[in-house]
Amino acid sequence: METFLPSYTSLEELREIQLKGLQWSVQHAYHGSEVYRQKFDKAGIAPADIKDLDDLRKLPLSSSQDLAEGYPFPFLSVPIDEVVRLHTSSGTTGKRKVLCYTKKDIEDWTHFFARCFEVGGLSTEDRIQICVGYGLWTAGIGFQLACEKFGAMAVPVGPGNLEMQMEFLMDFESTVICCTASMGLLLAEEVERKGLRDRVSLKKMIYGSERSSDAMRQRIKSILGLSDMYDIPGMTELYGPGTGMECSMHEGMHYWADYYILEIIDPETLLPVPNGEIGEMVVSTLQKEAVPLIRYRTRDISYIIKEPCPCGLLIPRHGRLLGRTDDMFIIRGVNIFPSQIDSVLREQDGIGSEYQVYLDRSKEGKDSITLRIESASGSDASADYETIESLRHMFKNKLFVTPQIEMVEYGTLPRSERKTQRVFDRRSGE
Ligand code: ZN
Repeated sequence: METFLPSYTSLEELREIQLKGLQWSVQHAYHGSEVYRQKFDKAGIAPADIKDLDDLRKLPLSSSQDLAEGYPFPFLSVPIDEVVRLHTSSGTTGKRKVLCYTKKDIEDWTHFFARCFEVGGLSTEDRIQICVGYGLWTAGIGFQLACEKFGAMAVPVGPGNLEMQMEFLMDFESTVICCTASMGLLLAEEVERKGLRDRVSLKKMIYGSERSSDAMRQRIKSILGLSDMYDIPGMTELYGPGTGMECSMHEGMHYWADYYILEIIDPETLLPVPNGEIGEMVVSTLQKEAVPLIRYRTRDISYIIKEPCPCGLLIPRHGRLLGRTDDMFIIRGVNIFPSQIDSVLREQDGIGSEYQVYLDRSKEGKDSITLRIESASGSDASADYETIESLRHMFKNKLFVTPQIEMVEYGTLPRSERKTQRVFDRRSGE
């Protein structure tokens, strides 16, 4: 089978690849994009100043704000006739981000995305049902080209349409499904409801684009009888999905450090955090032609895993995404990421996988937090007094806040095919 794994054989060799790539990218961006040139000039740094990898920190940060201000093509660094495709973000939080690709960018993306399937232990025998968005979004076509490059069979259904998904799962005997975790849960519950478990051949799920709780993943895995599930990271600005992949150890995600450098910074001070600590992911591309990213703030929260992976791959790892810098909320002076709520909930028996967080402020200005949690499937929500007490105790000890807890019947909280909103901050208009 053709391999898509990186060709370097030592971390030293990887660093050489990174330095060469960074020097090329800075040079390329400086000469190709007026916006980059002005940013670098303002910071007093020229391409020739990048002599080793530590010089990366001298470069100015960039962000989605740069993309919005220079809409539509601020970072475009090649003549536009070399662009073969563009994608945009959904634009739910402001102006759409528009990203362009040269022929080589598409080839590179396809190549390292095929690597994801290899790291996930797939084979050319696999039939991959792709249930993510096509069109302007990067997801669908990214999965599809990579699947074909890898040599497996693509079943390009797109998102939603549960009926058709079920039909194809059975008729085409798909072995792998690619979707958001919410969509995965919807499908799993439909399979369970219709009693079709024995008629689907699914073995693996590749899911991404939103956070998901352990309980939710466990439930999907057990209903569908999957052998494994893999988290896949990705963002439109950085090609799209497939910029890394969880391996079967499930101890973080391998990321393609031969295509981009990952830094973790403190989102408040903007300084790099000590190796291994949590902060905002900042990426610099090494080969991207049309729209190179130089120290681009992703707003995603994670951390670098220092230890080598027990799977033996010589590919660096970062932790699971812990949310977005914008998802972090502060309650009574405590910074909380939704992923910390997941980690408390997963230690409690007798509860379901869905939850909601409500933040309120009283007339006196006192903040309160309420968690709405589903009881486990089949259990009686009115008999949950002990569960509630135990959860309150755990939250107090681990997150230093004591929430109000409301238990609701299993299946009553919304599940959506796209991203599920779980935090509702009702404190505005104070
Ligand atoms: Zn690994």
